[in-house]
Amino acid sequence: MVIQSASFVISNTDISKCPNSQLPEYAFIGRSNVGKSSLINMLTGIKNLAMTSSKPGKTLLINHFLINNQWHLVDLPGYGYARIGKQGRERLEEMIRVYITERVQLTNLFVLIDSRHEPQQIDIEFISWLGEESIPFSIVFTKSDKLSKSALQLNITNYQNKLQEMWEELPPIFITSSEKGLGRDEVLGYIAQINASL
Ligand code: GDP
Repeated sequence: MVIQSASFVISNTDISKCPNSQLPEYAFIGRSNVGKSSLINMLTGIKNLAMTSSKPGKTLLINHFLINNQWHLVDLPGYGYARIGKQGRERLEEMIRVYITERVQLTNLFVLIDSRHEPQQIDIEFISWLGEESIPFSIVFTKSDKLSKSALQLNITNYQNKLQEMWEELPPIFITSSEKGLGRDEVLGYIAQINASL
């Protein structure tokens, strides 16, 4: 997919205020610092489209971007924030839960996982919950440039084994590096393929 246009639409905390549009939505989520903003900027080819962690404000909101006048890219808040306290975290989790389970336009959720780490409980629990709720999702391993090829392969195999303890069928998996532009064609191609089937 060629990105012809990408622009910010709206940020909010309430799904009733998300764009009133039937366009398919592809949302991105992951723990804070996983590399979500960098990935969104890399995919769209616009350097500062998504705010990186150094600008915390926007990272607590549901952010919609319009791509090619054809689909919405949705930047969801990171989960597992320590800094905002228990109450803030619960509010944020509720907002994410409502968006994921009730937003009918949500077509696929990309769950970002830092490829350097062993499977973390918070991610595994989140992925299990997606399975229980029958939410269509894929896994995107980020920062793959930070590992050697063999270490990367080992971590991904570990992850797949962990997921296979829960399910027979694995979700689609993408390996990306925002630094190197890796995985861009695969992720955008996957979105294009789904869009073409709608
Ligand atoms: P977010 O909190 O998930 O939006 O994460 P950011 O996109 O702000 O990235 C967190 C940190 O990881 C920043 O210092 C980025 O420069 C770095 N980072 C993100 N993606 C990559 C990547 O693909 N490769 C490398 N080497 N660093 C990355």
